[in-house]
Amino acid sequence: MVQMSTPLTYDALIAARHQEVQELIAAEHGLIGYIYPHAPLELFLAHDFTPILLWAEPKIPSAYEASLQTFCCAYSRNLFSQRSKEHMPPLNAILFPGGTCDSLQNLGDVWRARFPDDTVLRLTYPVANDDMAVTYLAEELRDLSNHLEVILGKRFVMELYQKAVALIAEFKAAAQFIAVARIIRPSIYPYFEYARLIRKFLTAPSLNSLTEIESVATHLQNELRKEQCLPTTEALRHGLLAGHIPDQIEIQSTDEPRIMIIGGMVDSEGVAFHFDNAKANADLEDLEIAFDLLSFTYRTTFTKAPNLHFDPFTEMAQSILSAPAEATQEGLPSRLTFLRRVFEKLKIDGLIICEQSFCDPDQFEVPDTLKLAEQKKVLSVRVPLDPEFSDRARLEGRIQSFLETLTAR
Ligand code: SF4
Repeated sequence: MVQMSTPLTYDALIAARHQEVQELIAAEHGLIGYIYPHAPLELFLAHDFTPILLWAEPKIPSAYEASLQTFCCAYSRNLFSQRSKEHMPPLNAILFPGGTCDSLQNLGDVWRARFPDDTVLRLTYPVANDDMAVTYLAEELRDLSNHLEVILGKRFVMELYQKAVALIAEFKAAAQFIAVARIIRPSIYPYFEYARLIRKFLTAPSLNSLTEIESVATHLQNELRKEQCLPTTEALRHGLLAGHIPDQIEIQSTDEPRIMIIGGMVDSEGVAFHFDNAKANADLEDLEIAFDLLSFTYRTTFTKAPNLHFDPFTEMAQSILSAPAEATQEGLPSRLTFLRRVFEKLKIDGLIICEQSFCDPDQFEVPDTLKLAEQKKVLSVRVPLDPEFSDRARLEGRIQSFLETLTAR
């Protein structure tokens, strides 16, 4: 099986990302940057643009920026600093979400004013998730499509849309399978590699990055077939796609504690890198994260694919709204119900809660999450992060002592 090991340094990890972006730029394909996880990737590809997820850049500190409101999170500040220091890849346009968090709303408004030559797009997400919401978002997507044609001169091409739906659906199916295989047996594939594969595809969705993730999924399928675990894995995958864990799922107990990681728009690959360092420092190399509920991994990939037989805009809206809810959306009670079920059915022993610096949605959700973890006797740790991981020693030290306490239990 193709399996990379964790890079030796965080700088090497970032250098690999830069290299991927440089290859995209060299391909001279139109690029549309996006920030929020639930962007309509199929729509951009249908207009012959490559969507590129904009990550925080560690070498650009999130300096105080007078134009942004004081409530803006560190992630938004880092992106703004990248742009003001001319450190962004050359984008044909950038998409900001509306109706998510105040920070991104403010960032989009200020960006438009400060960089009037940039093409700033806005997609406003509905608050609810019902038939009216689907209709509303479908119209927003149709408007965005018209905008792309008028402003950027590339029309929606049905053939490209069909290819894009297949590409993204295959990527998500592979990512879902790996995620679920890891829940069943966390040691089957390193969490860092899983996070890396997803980050790579989101940076540059392509057949190459799809092939890489699919070959891993196929390998894991063969492994689980030999162990006769394939039916359970598929049942769990379909259950999670529908937002629940089926009753028949039974996770076998092991000596290793089962660890879950939760949070919003944090860099999963970066967190995984520091987790690996922490477990090496604690001499606990065999420990793995069993389940991940972060925005750029789980919540981005566990969504239904658009159906090619129906209206593309309605289908894309349904697909986006089928994603597990974010902390930026209503629905905390149902998120807590799901989390309770995860703790019980997936036998979670330890919980790592990632909090992006100054992210209000993350921080509003944490007290209830902690209370639930305590009720269910799940040991938890809060890990405040800045998007540059500037205080790596503190971060790794905090995770290391959490792992030592968890294993001593
Ligand atoms: S990290 Fe939090 S505050 Fe920042 S953009 Fe994301 S949801 Fe908004």
